[in-house]
Amino acid sequence: MVKKLKTALVCGAGGFIGNHLIARLKNEGFWIRAVDLKRPEFGKTAADEFIIGDLREQSVCKKIFDRPFDEVYQLAADMGGAGFIFTGENDANIMRNSALININAIQYGLKAGIKKMFYSSSACIYPSHNQKNPKNPNCAEDSAFPAAPDSEYGWEKLFSERLYLSHHRNYGLDVRIARLHNVFGPEGTWNDGREKAPAAMCRKVAQTPDGGTIEMWGDGKQTRSFLYIDECLDGIRKLMDAKEFRGPVNIGSSEMVSINQLARMVMEIAEKKLKTKHIPGPLGVRGRVSDNRLIVKKLQWKPTKPLKDGLAKTYAWISDQVASQL
Ligand code: NAD
Repeated sequence: MVKKLKTALVCGAGGFIGNHLIARLKNEGFWIRAVDLKRPEFGKTAADEFIIGDLREQSVCKKIFDRPFDEVYQLAADMGGAGFIFTGENDANIMRNSALININAIQYGLKAGIKKMFYSSSACIYPSHNQKNPKNPNCAEDSAFPAAPDSEYGWEKLFSERLYLSHHRNYGLDVRIARLHNVFGPEGTWNDGREKAPAAMCRKVAQTPDGGTIEMWGDGKQTRSFLYIDECLDGIRKLMDAKEFRGPVNIGSSEMVSINQLARMVMEIAEKKLKTKHIPGPLGVRGRVSDNRLIVKKLQWKPTKPLKDGLAKTYAWISDQVASQL
């Protein structure tokens, strides 16, 4: 008897995580439909079918949710790094665009009888008052309420978490929710104003000759943790395969570094000695790190690879991009 292929729909398939996820699902033997406003910028898609479409449009969602997919991954969002989400200029678009996408996806997903739906929430949902101490931020899952995210991006993610959870309670939809913490790696955005700290740092170091100076927003003492893409995908797939557990759960690294330390790591990888000039810029919270107690308890797993390993791979890719633009 021929074994039926499992089917997946990936929304946000032209983006960084979406494109890597599709390669992973393809390796696992899925048949994949991909949807995005654009095709992947830096690599080919491994999807069986790639539909260019705007998920804010109900007509598009009606078309793509035309069968009971085994798994749906909803990654599409209007998003970017600090230079995009903390300036205030994109607040209305971020809230409206991403909320529309999620409402449409859940409504048409339900109609199509999909089996399981993953939603990519974010560490940005955590209350800003718990992240004032750069040495000891609190990002435990149960600290999310009373809510006080520091950006509209975080508020929309929190609303959509509740949107998915309420559809589980009232309509029995099997949802899985991860709060992703700063995911990075090759083939991520690096110079379009939406890039995040690791990519921006790799770009600045790659573009600056040895002995030169790079600029950094703030005093560099703010802390974060960064998760390499491969480990992020491991976590997402484990959450999707879990028997009873749907989250929300942190998927992130517990290796907390200051942005000054991040800069030094990238310089070491590049074998360059550079000076740092601290300038004003959009910053976000003072400290943030993934609290991995819940994921260990529920999925018996957590990311373990050192930040430096993933940074080395990312720097190699970004320095190639920089060189190809010269
Ligand atoms: P990304 O920006 O590379 O990918 C998002 C994709 O969504 C883009 O390709 C974009 O074109 C698409 N999109 C936006 N609006 C759309 C629309 N109206 N219709 C169809 N497609 C649309 O971002 P990413 O880093 O791959 O992140 C994927 C998801 O994970 C997002 O929901 C993001 O909020 C979440 N997340 C990411 C991180 C991270 O560090 N990368 C951290 C926390 C949460």
